[in-house]
Amino acid sequence: MHLLTQPNYKAYALNTFRNIPQIERLSESERKAIEIVGNVLPFKVNNYVIDELIDWDNYADDPLFNLVFPNKEMLLPEHFSQMEHILQNTTDRNLIRETAYKIRLKLNPHPAGQVELNVPELEGVKLTGIQHKYRETLLFFPSSGQTCHSYCTFCFRWPQFVGMNEIKFAMRETELLVKYLEQHQEVTDILFTGGDPMIMKYEVFRQYIEPFIESNRTNIQSIRIGTKSLGFWPYKFIDDEESDKFLALFERAIKSGINLAFMSHFNHPNELKTPAVQKAIRRLRNTGLQIRTQSPLLRHINDDADTWAEMWREQVNQNCIPYYMFVARDTGAKHYFEVPLVHTWEIFRKAYQQVSGLCRTVRGPSMSATPGKVQVLGVARIADKKVITLRFLQGRNPDWVARPFFAEYDDKATWLNELKPAFGDRFFYEDELERMYQAKTEGHLSDN
Ligand SMILES: *Cc1c(COP(=O)(O)O)cnc(C)c1O
Ligand code: SF4
Repeated sequence: MHLLTQPNYKAYALNTFRNIPQIERLSESERKAIEIVGNVLPFKVNNYVIDELIDWDNYADDPLFNLVFPNKEMLLPEHFSQMEHILQNTTDRNLIRETAYKIRLKLNPHPAGQVELNVPELEGVKLTGIQHKYRETLLFFPSSGQTCHSYCTFCFRWPQFVGMNEIKFAMRETELLVKYLEQHQEVTDILFTGGDPMIMKYEVFRQYIEPFIESNRTNIQSIRIGTKSLGFWPYKFIDDEESDKFLALFERAIKSGINLAFMSHFNHPNELKTPAVQKAIRRLRNTGLQIRTQSPLLRHINDDADTWAEMWREQVNQNCIPYYMFVARDTGAKHYFEVPLVHTWEIFRKAYQQVSGLCRTVRGPSMSATPGKVQVLGVARIADKKVITLRFLQGRNPDWVARPFFAEYDDKATWLNELKPAFGDRFFYEDELERMYQAKTEGHLSDN
């Protein structure tokens, strides 16, 4: 069913999902699995995803169904039984929570050194809502944007949604942010992320953007907003009572000279096909805002070249710019979604070969790993040795960027830390990365 007038937003969580009319199509054991897995991984789904994106006649293989609904295989068997057992034998919420928490700790809730290395300080205070990993670009986690219109089962931001407070990046004050940026003139880009910043009400959202429109002493030239709202709730920009206010704010920012871009997460071409999303994209583009797109490559969702080629073409046809293909992160339900690096690259290559140059703005496959964003350039042969060629798209040290380096061929490896150098015993950046770690750790010790 496709609608162009906005339905009321309606979201379902663990305690209400049995009210979703279509859920009757699932077997009772599938519904139970949603409860069991959903206690560990984030779960929330709204009526747009249910009514307009999922093909319920074929739900088990439907990419959008698998993107938002947990299933049994998303937990390792031992974790699944552990949670199942607890839910069968107790109604004690604390005990259930404690069990879930213990399992989550085993799922690498904080990959890629996000806490240890990326959180900056201002006058001795840790700015926990900021990550400053790459010289030019700052990530900012507005505290009111730490949720989404629906949750993705693959999400690496899941600790923020399930109440693991001590590792929740959030910060209320834009004041601190602006102060930090005034002292860091090397930062030209700010990337608002979450959760989804476009979950915010207009009155809250504008507080974060307006300081950069009004004259200020930062050097911010580009504002990016990382969002899944076009995939999960495009009505935000069509006839929501606040749509026009958002569009006017975007237009005002752009007129003031700022380059404003949506980093829009689309995981599957089906997300680009509803009348609602197409209209939302047109309205956003009319303000002058750019839409760049990104997604990880995920088994059960989009692990096939034709799907990617179709997705990039559809994006370019709708005036969006393909930007990143990511490798699925080493966190959460990784075992369910992961695809080995070599196979990921093969899918990338086969998709890239099918499309015109306008789609080839996409970069990838890229791992957001501890030292930086590492692109898999592909498999090559150097003097009879089969290698995987890599390079940094972004590095903790900007000097690392765009230097090809080589790993031993390994068609099972799914992440950088599983690769071995093809020549010598360390990758070229490893000594320096280690020194960076040590400097930070010593910093912690002298703080105490
Ligand atoms: C990807 C990313 C950025 C942005 O990098 P660009 O190359 O400018 O797209 C900034 N910070 C972090 C931590 C990132 O992962
Ligand atoms: S929309 Fe983004 S932040 Fe939200 S659950 Fe999905 S991947 Fe995670």
